[in-house]
Amino acid sequence: AEQTVSAKLNKSANAFAEAKCYIPGGVNSPVRSFRGVGGTPPFIARAAGNRLFDIDGNEYIDYVLSWGPMILGHSHPEVNRALLAAVERGVSYGAPTLLETELAKLVNRLVPSMELVRMVNSGTEATMSALRLARAYTKRNKIVKFVGCYHGHHDSLLVKAGSGVATFGLPDSPGVPDSIASTTITVAFNHFEQLQEVFARQGEDIAAVIIEPVPGNMGMVLPQPGYLQQVRELTARYGALLIFDEVMSGFRVALGGAQALFNIQPDLTCLGKVIGGGLPVGAYGGRREIMEQISPAGPVYQAGTLSGNPLAMTAGITTLRIIAEDPDFYPTLANKTESLTTGIRDQAEKAGFNLQCHHLGAMFGLFFSDQPVIDYDSAKLSDSTAFNIFFHSMLEQGIYLAPSQFEAGFMSAAHSEADIQQTIAASAKAFAKLADM
Ligand code: PMP
Repeated sequence: AEQTVSAKLNKSANAFAEAKCYIPGGVNSPVRSFRGVGGTPPFIARAAGNRLFDIDGNEYIDYVLSWGPMILGHSHPEVNRALLAAVERGVSYGAPTLLETELAKLVNRLVPSMELVRMVNSGTEATMSALRLARAYTKRNKIVKFVGCYHGHHDSLLVKAGSGVATFGLPDSPGVPDSIASTTITVAFNHFEQLQEVFARQGEDIAAVIIEPVPGNMGMVLPQPGYLQQVRELTARYGALLIFDEVMSGFRVALGGAQALFNIQPDLTCLGKVIGGGLPVGAYGGRREIMEQISPAGPVYQAGTLSGNPLAMTAGITTLRIIAEDPDFYPTLANKTESLTTGIRDQAEKAGFNLQCHHLGAMFGLFFSDQPVIDYDSAKLSDSTAFNIFFHSMLEQGIYLAPSQFEAGFMSAAHSEADIQQTIAASAKAFAKLADM
């Protein structure tokens, strides 16, 4: 999808060219390159509230929110104040602090299935460590994941993965040894019979099933009613651990994550994004007897020089406190998300386009498809050419969406009703442009 450089992005285009001289593809995470949609990614100079400002002086209403973390909006005054005060006390000690217990306690209060919590630095680290723990605890080797779910880039889970892997239409990554990839079994999301079959054949060898309970990395897909419950019951019957990867859905589809919303107790949970308030934090946790296998309580090794970093803990604590203290916080976010997706879908219909719009809590997804999207196969049927044109028209109008329909969109507390109306109005123009082509 080649796109001519918009005159509005001159400085970004030059910056991108220079970045490519020193950084693979010019970016430190692939989807940021806009490779899926073509064109130049705006280089960001600063952000405040729901706005991004690029180095060419353009302003955008941001629905990416650093891929999920910035649920309060950018540069939240209370978070910034806490961070600046933390900087004054020194940025890292590599020794225990009160902050780590405070964040673990907060997480445990909001996500009670996480009886013990270990902090790491990314979602990737959280899922990688949870898998090692599950294998050690069950003394089994196989892992089941779902096609189109993304859990980070470590070897065991970079198999039929979503997110950038899906956006770029890549096969599984080179560099992952067959010996590791072969321990990962993949099944389609929302098709319980496939999981049942796998368990009937090799249930005794399966250490864990890892799932995004509300997938956001093949675009946003909703679990069918009762599906997650069936997965919970089946894993329990075979003594396999159920790992909820709530790196994206945690503190996002609801305060207590998908597990609170669907009333399911996973054995282990992985968190990231919102838990760090924009600083690099991930966490994994779960049943005490399992988590006590982690070193130094138990024999399963996992460590980190910067894990539990005081700045990261401070951003996380401040963010979680704010989102937890106001009972209207999530209902308000959910209402805004619903009015945005409903508004965009109405505009699409007026212009003669079918759009599958999903939303839950403060997370949403749009597919250019006239078919229901329930799994990766149906997500792939969406029209990516139409999406790309829509995406660029929105960007041109100052609306910053994820540069792929295989990514979710996010709402923040800083988005106003006027921003949402402006976004819907922009979508009307984008659909009109599409209809003219
Ligand atoms: N799990 C899920 C569900 C994710 O969405 C992501 C990242 N988008 C990850 C894990 C990996 O997290 P990180 O990028 O922080 O390593």
